[in-house]
Amino acid sequence: MIVMGIESSCDETGVGIVRRHPDGSCELLADEVASSVAEHARFGGVVPEIASRAHLEAIVPAMRRALSTAGIVAPDALAVTIGPGLAGALLVGVAAAKAYAAAWDIPFYALNHLGGHVAVDTLEHGPMPPCVALLVSGGHTHLLHVEDLSRPLIELGSTVDDAAGEAFDKVARLLGLGYPGGPALDAAAVTGDPAAIAFPRGMTGPRDARHDFSFSGLKTAVARYVEAQHRQGVEELPIPDIAASFQEAVADVLTMKAIRAAQDVGVDTLVLGGGATANTRIRSMAEERCAAAGLTLRIPKPRLCTDNGVMIAALGAHVIGGGAEPSPLSVASDPGLPVSVSQVS
Ligand code: ATP
Ligand code: MG
Ligand code: FE
Repeated sequence: MIVMGIESSCDETGVGIVRRHPDGSCELLADEVASSVAEHARFGGVVPEIASRAHLEAIVPAMRRALSTAGIVAPDALAVTIGPGLAGALLVGVAAAKAYAAAWDIPFYALNHLGGHVAVDTLEHGPMPPCVALLVSGGHTHLLHVEDLSRPLIELGSTVDDAAGEAFDKVARLLGLGYPGGPALDAAAVTGDPAAIAFPRGMTGPRDARHDFSFSGLKTAVARYVEAQHRQGVEELPIPDIAASFQEAVADVLTMKAIRAAQDVGVDTLVLGGGATANTRIRSMAEERCAAAGLTLRIPKPRLCTDNGVMIAALGAHVIGGGAEPSPLSVASDPGLPVSVSQVS
């Protein structure tokens, strides 16, 4: 069974193709991603109209390239991101997926983007045991209990304000590191001292909700620190130290809460997913702390952590493997789809 996945929820046009084997494992056959990130750079953030137009231009060529790389004429099933995401951007991928599914006369699955960020890990690390997943991206920060990828994910907690990736982007902007901010801040932190500045760890007090996050206080603390430096007449900000100390605070909170969630739920595996898990410190701290706590850690390689089509194809393969009925071609995209809904049908 060969499944194609189409992703267009933000600024990446992704088309991925996987083969699902009878034992439930998945093999990557093609992974095409066209990004409009450079076109948004001068605006300092994703401009929805530009993203939609870029998807329109990129989608058919990306599909042709993916089919040619996989060496197939058509897949056996088609999965698409139906939400959450930008309304106009989602529409392009969903319209393309419906048109191709109708033309090829193959089943169509309307899937949750966030579930894809978790499912993609099975391509690298095989079938997923019951686990806790920490999902961190530009728009989302969730702790999820995953019993089985073919069933809805159970939400344990989420951010009450900014997403972790959003905090990276905002702090990077404040430090003049450009856009996209996450990778730039990660690079700037390499030569910095993570203990140079004691930034706050939000929602880690004894009375705070165990599995929720808050990053806006941290973002404000960085802004206050920068203002204070300017007031004191400091001409050159210690950018590497600020970046490293901020990154340390984010990684500390994320990994501490993820491990606590895994222990509370009683699973022995932690899975990381979403664009911000490409961050080197989040990855290394998760490795150290999972080893110390006796948990198995699974993190996809950075290319699979950011938005792509393969993650939707992988989720499609699991949903199909779980016996789900296809979605009707009449389903509408849902920009606000909750993480607990894996498939819209
Ligand atoms: P969604 O939230 O719907 O999944 P998205 O486009 O924001 O959408 P991703 O592509 O998964 O999702 O993630 C992009 C985010 O990841 C951005 O906020 C970006 O700054 C962040 N990011 C990417 N690489 C790094 C990195 N090395 N360190 C920190 N953050 C990073
Ligand atoms: Mg993106
Ligand atoms: Fe994403």
